[in-house]
Amino acid sequence: PKYVYDFTEGNKDLKDLLGGKGANLAEMTNLGLPVPPGFTITSAACRYYLDHEAMPEGLDEEVGRYLSALEREMGRRLGQPDDPLLVSVRSGAKFSMPGMMETVLNIGLNDESVHGLAERSGNERFAWDSYRRLIQMFGKTVLDIEGDLFETAIDEAKEAKGVESDLDLETDDFKGLVQTYKKIVRENAGREFPTDPREQMDLAIKAVFGSWNAPRAILYRRQERIPADLGTAVNIVAMVFGNLGMDSGTGVAFTRDPASGQQGVYGDYLQNAQGEDVVAGIRSTVPLADLEQIDKRSYDELLQIMETLENHYRDLCDIEFTIESGKLWMLQTRVGKRTAAAAFRIAVQLVDQNLIDADEAVRRVTGDQLAQLMFPRFGEIADDVKTITAGMGASPGAAVGKAVFTPGRAVELADDGEDVILLRRETSPDDLNGMIAARGILTSRGGKTSHAAVVARGMGKTCVCGAEELDIDVRARQATAPGDVTIKEGDVISIDGTTGAVYLGEVAVVDSPVVQYFEGALSAAGGDELVTSVDRLMRHADSRRRLAVRANADNGEDAARARRFGAQGIGLCRTEHMFLGERRQYVEDLILAETRDDRRAALQALEPLQKQDFKEIFEAMDGLPVTIRLIDPPLHEFLPDLTDLTVKVATGDASADDERLLEAVRRLHEQNPMLGLRGVRLGVVIPGLFGMQVRAIAEAAAEVREAGREPHAEIMIPLVGAVQELEFIREEAEKVLAEVGVEALIGTMIELPRAAMTAGQIAEAAEFFSFGTNDLTQTTWGFSRDDVESAFFGRYLELGIFGVSPFETLDVDGVGRLVRIAVEEGRATRPDLKLGICGEHGGDPDSVHFFHEVGLDYVSCSPFRIPVARLEAGRAAI
Ligand code: ADP
Ligand code: MG
Ligand code: MG
Repeated sequence: PKYVYDFTEGNKDLKDLLGGKGANLAEMTNLGLPVPPGFTITSAACRYYLDHEAMPEGLDEEVGRYLSALEREMGRRLGQPDDPLLVSVRSGAKFSMPGMMETVLNIGLNDESVHGLAERSGNERFAWDSYRRLIQMFGKTVLDIEGDLFETAIDEAKEAKGVESDLDLETDDFKGLVQTYKKIVRENAGREFPTDPREQMDLAIKAVFGSWNAPRAILYRRQERIPADLGTAVNIVAMVFGNLGMDSGTGVAFTRDPASGQQGVYGDYLQNAQGEDVVAGIRSTVPLADLEQIDKRSYDELLQIMETLENHYRDLCDIEFTIESGKLWMLQTRVGKRTAAAAFRIAVQLVDQNLIDADEAVRRVTGDQLAQLMFPRFGEIADDVKTITAGMGASPGAAVGKAVFTPGRAVELADDGEDVILLRRETSPDDLNGMIAARGILTSRGGKTSHAAVVARGMGKTCVCGAEELDIDVRARQATAPGDVTIKEGDVISIDGTTGAVYLGEVAVVDSPVVQYFEGALSAAGGDELVTSVDRLMRHADSRRRLAVRANADNGEDAARARRFGAQGIGLCRTEHMFLGERRQYVEDLILAETRDDRRAALQALEPLQKQDFKEIFEAMDGLPVTIRLIDPPLHEFLPDLTDLTVKVATGDASADDERLLEAVRRLHEQNPMLGLRGVRLGVVIPGLFGMQVRAIAEAAAEVREAGREPHAEIMIPLVGAVQELEFIREEAEKVLAEVGVEALIGTMIELPRAAMTAGQIAEAAEFFSFGTNDLTQTTWGFSRDDVESAFFGRYLELGIFGVSPFETLDVDGVGRLVRIAVEEGRATRPDLKLGICGEHGGDPDSVHFFHEVGLDYVSCSPFRIPVARLEAGRAAI
């Protein structure tokens, strides 16, 4: 197979093979943009290398051929002593993983060629600076040497000279550093720094391949749900130099503001600097707009290129560029990460600019992003809260938590269930676990393109960056701000990722504008661009989707809210909460009943209470279907705790009733209650229980109907495993319905593998199925949902046994297969069988796509997830 592609051979659609960086470098090359020449080694080569711990046969020669071609084009050889070609060796996977993997710059320098570079450039300082950078990056990345060793050495050099900035270091300082760095290599890697240019390059390629499996890369992939087996491509790019002097520099730019979506000039620029310097925050950058003053020609050209890229990619692009002695070079572009709000705005803006159509716009926003827009915001600032300072709002949201200063501490406190805000001068990829654990991130340095900002936006996490007034002291675990303010570890602070404000104390949160819009409290015509954008995309998604969306709601209030959010009925109304509170007494009476009359009396006491509950829901859902599930959990859940009772009896505090209760609790005690006496089994074993519930439903429906409304009751029997169970209950239910004179559909949940496998039979007695995917996942895998999360899921996720918990996203291969079988066989028996799903998966984006594809009629989810399900159902249908 072909493992190497010149930039002129690739294009943006080859991301699988060339990675995002390589594919886009090729695309820019072919667009005629100024990209330094180079070539890409495919991710297939990486996969081979990781699998076999050896490079594929023939790769060496293939790379050699492409390198020779590059050398011919550049008119100099890699590391040529009198005029060296230098290259960068850059990672670049299919999905962008900012800063997670490795890149080595200035490959080709050694004790000889550094002189050639100095002579050719007429800039000795630059040549030695480049050389020490090579040894530093190579040492850290390829030879696995602690990066701090190099950092410390350069800090010492500055200290010895009495200067602050690396700009003040001179040629001799860099010459000295090169010697020091080589010594560090010798002492820590057990070998000399390799001087052969091709050896440097080959070792760097292997290191980049290997960096795919660096712990932080693994962690990032898990967080972002990027498959673990893709591998990374490697790009070999001729070096251009931003560190040649003040007419050189390097920068990053966005074609639109990634936080708001607004078009304009966004980015950061740093004069006389190379590569990572911009994002690493070693010196303060200037806003991109300042480049106009510094170098107008390059600035104009850059703006022109940004427009070309936007029109070509029809999307927000982010860009890395370098200016070498007044000449602009493009080093990277990709469709840029953005905040959720920007995603909605940009999608609609692009429709209005005729760059994309409405379908494409809906495809470009996700349910997860919509969910983020529904997070609460800061409301009024209370008197005891102090506004400390402000930075840049880099990733929106309102985060409140205890201040911590190290990623380790963030993880510790988060594990104890605390909300934390991570404060750092700037973040690096090593901070990732702390960033994941934190509710929000606050840095004192860096702009909207800093590591903290980019990663936080990717994770949808609140971030304020560049709060320069904050003096963060990691060792003392505190930060100080003007006005004698000190934030100590553990102090509660609040950060606003939209405005950049930082508060000492807890700020209360309020509904987001998007939630107010869904609630009907904010009109789409009100002029808020975000709300208008959400409105337009939601309407289009609604017009496209085939799946209906219903709500899981147990009371009138939730039902009403769900309806405002767009619910087309209730897919799951649980009745068990109707047995709680003061009604517990009746359940106890029911369980303790010794005679038929006692039992009937207990049931009769419950019935009117249930009826009232149902009436409220029918009223809220006037005209729409309401699926009511008869009682599902084991009855002992309604009784007092076994231990409490035992203690009471043992200490002689118990009444006669308590003693009888204890007996009942002992009798009902089960080893595996979730597999025990619950669901339909209760209906079969306790005469009159389901009948009472059906009567309450029927009478509620009758009364609501009489009042001029239109109730549509659907009675759902849980945990059915055999059609005979359902037939037994059905007979009782139909009798009650006939007596009251109300019609209702009778159906069942499919939540046991046996039910799925015998769905053809069960459909004989069911007018509808609703997949209870929580229990179905539990019973299919044999996992107890209440226990697994703590017991072993962490380890399973770590090992990649599954990429995501099957309770979160439906396991399509296993549980999904059962769903598929039940859909097919159920419909074969009864073509008009109604099909829905009411587990947690009903609001999960990936699962919604599966339910669409398998042909269900509706999904049902919690009221707050309804907009997400509507959007994803639309996206699934496009
Ligand atoms: P990352 O994926 O972490 O951004 P990159 O491969 O893009 O890593 O490279 C790191 C930095 O080095 C970037 O700022 C990039 O622009 C710069 N860089 C990479 N290759 C070259 C090159 N050939 N010439 C000049 N700068 C380069
Ligand atoms: Mg980059
Ligand atoms: Mg269930």
